[in-house]
Amino acid sequence: MEYDFNTVVIGGGPAGSRCAYVLAKNGKKVAMVEMVAVGGVCLNRGCIPSKSYLYTVELLNYIKKAKLFGIEVGEPEINWEKVNAKKNRNVKMLGSGLTRKCENAGVEIMHAHAKIKDKNTVTVKFIETGEEKDLTCENIVIAIGSKPLFLPFTEQGEHVISSTEMLELEKIPETMVVIGGGVTGVETASIFSGLGTKVTIIERQSHILPWQDKEISERLRKALEKKGVNIYTNSEVSSAKDSGDKAEVVYKNEEGSEETLLVDKCLVVIGRQVNYDMDELAEIGIENNGKGVILDDRLKTTVPNIYMIGDSAWRNLTAYGAEREGEYVAECISRECKKPINYDHILTTVFSHPEVGQIGVTEEQAKEKGIDYEVYKSEFAANAKAMIAGERDGLVKIIVDKSNKTVLGVNIIGHHATDLVHQAIIAVVHELKVEEWLDIVWSHPVLSEVFKEALENDPA
Ligand SMILES: Cc1cc2nc3c(=O)[nH]c(=O)nc-3n(C[C@H](O)[C@H](O)[C@H](O)COP(=O)(O)OP(=O)(O)OC[C@H]3O[C@@H](n4cnc5c(N)ncnc54)[C@H](O)[C@@H]3O)c2cc1C
Repeated sequence: MEYDFNTVVIGGGPAGSRCAYVLAKNGKKVAMVEMVAVGGVCLNRGCIPSKSYLYTVELLNYIKKAKLFGIEVGEPEINWEKVNAKKNRNVKMLGSGLTRKCENAGVEIMHAHAKIKDKNTVTVKFIETGEEKDLTCENIVIAIGSKPLFLPFTEQGEHVISSTEMLELEKIPETMVVIGGGVTGVETASIFSGLGTKVTIIERQSHILPWQDKEISERLRKALEKKGVNIYTNSEVSSAKDSGDKAEVVYKNEEGSEETLLVDKCLVVIGRQVNYDMDELAEIGIENNGKGVILDDRLKTTVPNIYMIGDSAWRNLTAYGAEREGEYVAECISRECKKPINYDHILTTVFSHPEVGQIGVTEEQAKEKGIDYEVYKSEFAANAKAMIAGERDGLVKIIVDKSNKTVLGVNIIGHHATDLVHQAIIAVVHELKVEEWLDIVWSHPVLSEVFKEALENDPA
């Protein structure tokens, strides 16, 4: 049978747009259906707007410490309208760049809502006209992302908000509670504390960034507290709702007593949830296990020509993980499937101030796995470039297998940690030994020397 398209990709976020682009580059006729904006959450309501704010705060911090470098400047003033205009410009320019790139490769982009009718038909309803049309196709890729998780005790309102509204605030709040000390929680605390908001993080677990190396997460806690952020761990929110022109947040503190906070905004970032109806998908044969759609290690659903990628596949909730899955599935469809993705080789980056980067195991994970390990450490204070930049608060921890000296994991907190960690990918993915990693010539003075400094120290 002749189909309209080789593949219809539903969703134009990092997963969908990457998948559609690679398919088109590989000569396949592909349609990408996106109902809001090309670039998805990452570009429009996630990575890019939040990192634009974080950069503004970074710049503000540089200006504030300029005096230490002999530069006299007056007290900086924040023009929130212009901050947002810059953020929106970034989003717009990157969005049109991505759209152009996909279109130039041959992707047919449709601004429409898509619904799978049967295993070879997708019904699209165009946003502008309301017109409906059936697209027939050999393959379908579901890349519809995820949505913020709100539990019954957190009532979304004008003042109890998700990350989407946090990125569109009309003014900088004076006070804010952040429920959840995960990645978005600590990044938001870095943004708004930097802008002068009194921020309180409430986290149920004993540490912020609970999955991170404990020593690194403690470092981050101290750094945020130094910036004036209140951090309540082992504390559980029992209710968050609008109350007049404030958000009222009730929580149990570490000692078990109930406390109430009235703040301008309460951001709920306790996690994400899938964005699809399992019963609806089951009608076309896509089976689930009660929690989510069943996928094999090639991201195929139980209907062999229908794939699921990105946040909706629930394997790795990052834009770069989503892109990797997009290109992986595109190769599966247009050529042949490569080796399944090794998720242990995907790094973690947290753009808090200071930044955090991680690849491979943490010290706690090495312990849990029963590995006989040793830790090579160095403080940024020992690094010349960090000293020159006035960024001495940082730590690198390299986890090494004691028996054969293979690098198993690298955990960093400090200036540019999200860039630095990319260098460590090679060491972990290619299982370098300490002496092999040391056998390169580092430039000087560079932040990357933190790895050399750590590897030359005696391990603990
Ligand atoms: C505040 C915040 C900050 C973040 N920062 C980072 C970061 O710095 N780095 C990072 O790697 N990740 C970050 N993330 C995570 C990242 O945004 C997601 O992991 C990524 O967007 C997932 O990509 P995706 O393509 O799977 O889904 P999405 O980006 O969610 O895209 C899915 C798209 O599908 C569309 N869609 C859904 N249903 C339909 C339908 N029926 N028909 C048509 N279209 C449909 C949606 O409109 C959406 O555009 C952040 C997330 C948030 C919330």
